[in-house]
Amino acid sequence: MTQWMVLTDLDGTLLDHDSYDWRPAEPALQALQALNIPVIAVTSKTAAELVSLRTEIPYLAPLMACENGAVVIDDRSGTRTREVLGEATDTLIGWFEQATREAGARGIGFHQASDQQVADWTGLSLWDAAQARAREASLPVYYPTDWPGRAAFIHAVETLGGRVLEGGRFLHLTGDADKGSALGWLVQRLNIDHTVALGDGGNDDAMLTRATIGIRIPTAGIRRPESLTTIRRASQPGPAGWNEAMLSLLNQGLLNELRGERDE
Ligand SMILES: [Mg+2]
Repeated sequence: MTQWMVLTDLDGTLLDHDSYDWRPAEPALQALQALNIPVIAVTSKTAAELVSLRTEIPYLAPLMACENGAVVIDDRSGTRTREVLGEATDTLIGWFEQATREAGARGIGFHQASDQQVADWTGLSLWDAAQARAREASLPVYYPTDWPGRAAFIHAVETLGGRVLEGGRFLHLTGDADKGSALGWLVQRLNIDHTVALGDGGNDDAMLTRATIGIRIPTAGIRRPESLTTIRRASQPGPAGWNEAMLSLLNQGLLNELRGERDE
């Protein structure tokens, strides 16, 4: 029997952008659990943050991709295994510093910020902000769009061989690894090649385009033109949109339909 898995971004997608509430998505999460379809977090959050989130959201699978797909955690056997798929944070800090010098840029890397600053930017508690700064293979950069030097900074990082992904709140410095390569890793590891992926940010694009069904969750208060043409769009932001989009897929029997086609 063909199996499905659901890969989901967290901030601004399964979690409300401001309140971090996930409860509006619970009916769909319950329906997926009843069908034995795993829901896997693919997020820019760190492993430390995900461990506490998994106790809060019992529907998340014990397999997770964090730091924008650069680190994968597998807790399924009860013994944690961890694989780093991306460039080490120290390398990224080197690129950040060189690009900042060359571009005369103003962005603030997480390695330079205090827990208090990260808490102010995100609305997280000081404890959660400290967990968010515990990075192994990614580097978020606070760089509001109206600060000067932003485009020159992105260009300078790319010239050095790095990439800059646009998230809901931050720019994310990374190497080759992204949420799309994490999807590839998960498909191989779980031997499940039918995927639904949900995300709100530019850092989700690689995952949304590689999924069998990609679903864009819109951002509250912002009308952004869609850069991808092959994906569906939820009608509401955050967990309410997640719930509606996923229940609609299930009600249309789309997952069953594809399963039927595959089995013939
Ligand atoms: Mg997001």
